[in-house]
Amino acid sequence: LKDYIKKGYPKESDMVKQVSKISLNVPDGSNGILVKNLYLSCDPYMRSRMTKSESGYVEAFTPGQPITGYGVARVLDSGTPKFKKGDLVWGFTGWEEYSLITNTGSLFKIEHPEVPLSYYTGLLGMPGMTAYAGFYEVATPKKGEYVYISAASGAVGQLVGQFAKLLGCYVVGSAGSKEKVDLLKNKFGFDEAFNYKEEEDLAAALKRYFPDGIDIYFENVGGKMLDAVLVNMRSHGRIAVCGMISQYNLEKPEGVYNLTSVIMKQLRVQGFLVFEYYHLYPKFLELVLPYIKEGKINYLEDTAEGLESAPAALIGLFSGRNVGKQVVVVARE
Ligand code: NDP
Repeated sequence: LKDYIKKGYPKESDMVKQVSKISLNVPDGSNGILVKNLYLSCDPYMRSRMTKSESGYVEAFTPGQPITGYGVARVLDSGTPKFKKGDLVWGFTGWEEYSLITNTGSLFKIEHPEVPLSYYTGLLGMPGMTAYAGFYEVATPKKGEYVYISAASGAVGQLVGQFAKLLGCYVVGSAGSKEKVDLLKNKFGFDEAFNYKEEEDLAAALKRYFPDGIDIYFENVGGKMLDAVLVNMRSHGRIAVCGMISQYNLEKPEGVYNLTSVIMKQLRVQGFLVFEYYHLYPKFLELVLPYIKEGKINYLEDTAEGLESAPAALIGLFSGRNVGKQVVVVARE
């Protein structure tokens, strides 16, 4: 990142490529690890790290220093007994070819390398855990319930929809193009899907798909969409507030006017952060690995080749350019 940006959409030119040298050994006395980065994850929360803020829940980037984020890497040298040379890890790393990771506390060792390694940026990484925690822990779903997911074809949404279908729910998703709507219906098995950009009246569109109301809304978008959902919720419905991507680049957040529905319909609206749920990672793998092996879960990635393509890939999240989970391939092995 060149410098902090205030409000508005980030641009490719807010990021620059720099060349510098790094030793491929962990310095003496360090308990960090030296890794070769393989896959990097582009995630919407990274927008908030481009702005300096006292209240941010994750630290802002340091201008002039490599951007940090989730990724998959191979350990080349280790100063800690937790990891050894050759191990594969996922977690926080740098947007660079090689990184010295001094804080290894948040890294997970990859125990199942037979699954495509890039999946650990999505399906088997942070977005997968977000879908799992948000759906099963926060939304407390029951078989047969009516579930609505916004930004449904993305990293998190595509998985929430499939978890909900596997549980026997009726599932509708919205996304921003015809291609994405087709994917929701034909690849991810949603019962229905619609292009929210083609709907003049979002509340009326939701009424069409949920004549009896929505039990669970998995919120990825916020703003007008949330307002339209509130009036379509059923009594005792739950809203798992995962993200509000429509608001991240606005000067002023959009007003939400229908909050009295929360009282009248006795809704439970609960925000959550995936970081609080990582203790469930082994349980999550126990559920999802068999689903992958049995072909019960489909997963779609959008891969950008090379570190140079990372800035465009990242900002593309805010215009919906990505079709599926956005990954950057730095190296394949
Ligand atoms: P996605 O892979 O879904 O990519 C973002 C998508 O959001 C875009 O492709 C686009 O799809 C949609 N979008 C962008 N701008 C708008 C807009 N103005 N209005 C409506 N939709 C828009 O991202 P993720 O699956 O990684 O993340 C989904 C949400 O989950 C985000 O809000 C993110 O911040 C949140 N999140 C929260 C976590 C937590 O711990 N609470 C952890 C991880 C993610 P389309 O073409 O359909 O518009």
